[in-house]
Amino acid sequence: MTTIGTVRVIDHPLIQHKLTLMRQKERSTNSFRELLGEISTLLAYEVTRDLPLVYQEIETPLARMRAPMLEGKKVVLVNILRAGSGMVDGMLRILPSARVGHIGLYRDPETLGAVEYYYKMPNEIDDRDIIVVDPMIATGNSAVAAVDRIKPARPKSIKLVCIVASPEGLANFHEVHPDVPVFTAAIDEGLDDHGYILPGLGDAGDRLFGTK
Ligand code: URA
Repeated sequence: MTTIGTVRVIDHPLIQHKLTLMRQKERSTNSFRELLGEISTLLAYEVTRDLPLVYQEIETPLARMRAPMLEGKKVVLVNILRAGSGMVDGMLRILPSARVGHIGLYRDPETLGAVEYYYKMPNEIDDRDIIVVDPMIATGNSAVAAVDRIKPARPKSIKLVCIVASPEGLANFHEVHPDVPVFTAAIDEGLDDHGYILPGLGDAGDRLFGTK
């Protein structure tokens, strides 16, 4: 893992290899979806590295022992619709009890600003760790809007996890939410005139759901 300020680039070889496969334009919808799920499982492993543990008395078949278990309430995954959906199941594989919230945001094609159309969170997120997922941090506007919306509920912590980020999007996000660490598999070169990440992997939602 390489840390650049509050951004952590998860440069694990398995993640990097899978990301390269996802970038290939000839990759099928099915394979793209599978790879996104697999990368998300691997990212979840890194992102949860600092979850606190408590020691509990248990009995193995042979002896009693004090053994570590995750402390506190269940983690909440927040899915930024619609492309975040491709990351949730992969993360739930190793966080099976996590709660899942949804935020529906679309990009205004003119302004590239984030417009909210749906918001549903689990109850009482005030003492929970939140992991916000969106594969692409392009302008950063959706991620900013999602965290703007969650912060007033005063969760214990918030982390943002993506697959590919642009330098502009990271700077935008950091300016508004410097206290929220970002985990990404790659930082690409920049944005094109339509707000797509270059070289990127195209429209993650379209590639995930086969809508183009
Ligand atoms: N959203 C995507 O899915 N891809 C990009 O390149 C930018 C935003």
